[in-house]
Amino acid sequence: MPNSDSFNALAFDALAHAIPYQTINMHGVQLCIKRLDLVHPRISGNKFFKLKYNLLSAQQQGFKRVLTFGGAYSNHIAATAYATHLFGLQSIGIIRGEELAHKALNPTLHTAQDFGMQLQFVSREQYRQKQSADFIQQLQAEFPDSYIIPEGGTNSLAIQGCKEILTADDVNNFDLICCAAGTGGTISGLIEASAENQKILGFSALKGEFLAQELQQWTQRSNWHITDEFCFGGYAKTAPELMQFIQRFEKDYGFPLEHVYTGKMLFGVEQMILRGEIKKTQSVLALHTGGLQGKIQR
Ligand SMILES: *Cc1c(COP(=O)(O)O)cnc(C)c1O
Repeated sequence: MPNSDSFNALAFDALAHAIPYQTINMHGVQLCIKRLDLVHPRISGNKFFKLKYNLLSAQQQGFKRVLTFGGAYSNHIAATAYATHLFGLQSIGIIRGEELAHKALNPTLHTAQDFGMQLQFVSREQYRQKQSADFIQQLQAEFPDSYIIPEGGTNSLAIQGCKEILTADDVNNFDLICCAAGTGGTISGLIEASAENQKILGFSALKGEFLAQELQQWTQRSNWHITDEFCFGGYAKTAPELMQFIQRFEKDYGFPLEHVYTGKMLFGVEQMILRGEIKKTQSVLALHTGGLQGKIQR
C-alpha cells in the first residue's frame, strides 16, 4: 500500500487505469459493467474519483485536516477516512445522529475511527444545517485549518475527478451510459466527459425531482436523463423483488451488488430492457459505483 509520500496524482491514475470491465448478457443486451468497486479496496468506486482533486488540493494548499459530513453507513465517510490517512491529513467526520455517540460503533464508523477519523455526532436537526454559513463557521472555529468537503463529497473538484471515470474508449464505444445517482456529482462528471451522441441515464437513489435541478448547477449539457422510478420509495429502502434480483444477479454473474445504489440501477436497467426501452442494438456501459463496505451491516 502506498504511503502518504507516494500517494499522489500518479498513484490515483495508475489505479484508475487498471479498472476491469465485465460484459454480461442481460436478456440479449450486451451490458458492459465498469467495476469501479474494484478501483481500491478501501476508497471504493466513485468516491475515489470524487476525492482525488479535493485531497490533492487540500494537500497543496497546506491544510492539516479534512472535515466532512455523512450518515452512519456513509460510503463517503469510509472512503474519506482512509484516503486522508494515505495523504497524511487528519480527518473529522460530522455524523448524523447524536444518539450514536452512546452506542457501539458500526463497522463503517469503527473502521473510519481506526484510520484516525475523529467522529463528531450531531442531532438530525443540526445536521440539516450542514450547508449553513453559521454552522460551517462554528465548525471552522472548533476545527481550525480544515478543508471542508460537503456531504457525499460533491463539489466542482469532485466533478472534475468524476470526468476521469470515462476513458476515451468509454466515450467512443457506447451509446448509453447508466449510473446510480445520490447527490448527482458522479453523473455530472460523466455528462461533462461524454460525447454529444451519448446518452447518460441516472438512476436516483432518492425520490423526487430535486436531482435534475441540482444537475443543472453542474452541467449545461442536455444529453442526460434522471429517473427515480427504481428508487423503491427512497434512500436505502428495499423490497423483496429488489433483494431477489440482487441475489439472482450475484449468482448468475458472480460479483456483489448492494441495494442502495448499483443494485437499484441494475434492477432498473433490467426492467428497461424487458420493456424494450433499452434495445439489443444499443451498446450500453453501466457503472458499478462500489459501496460494498455498507452491504453486510444493513
Ligand atoms: C455515493 C454513491 C453514489 C452516488 O454518487 P453521487 O455522486 O452522490 O451521485 C452511487 N453509488 C455508490 C455506491 C455511492 O457510494
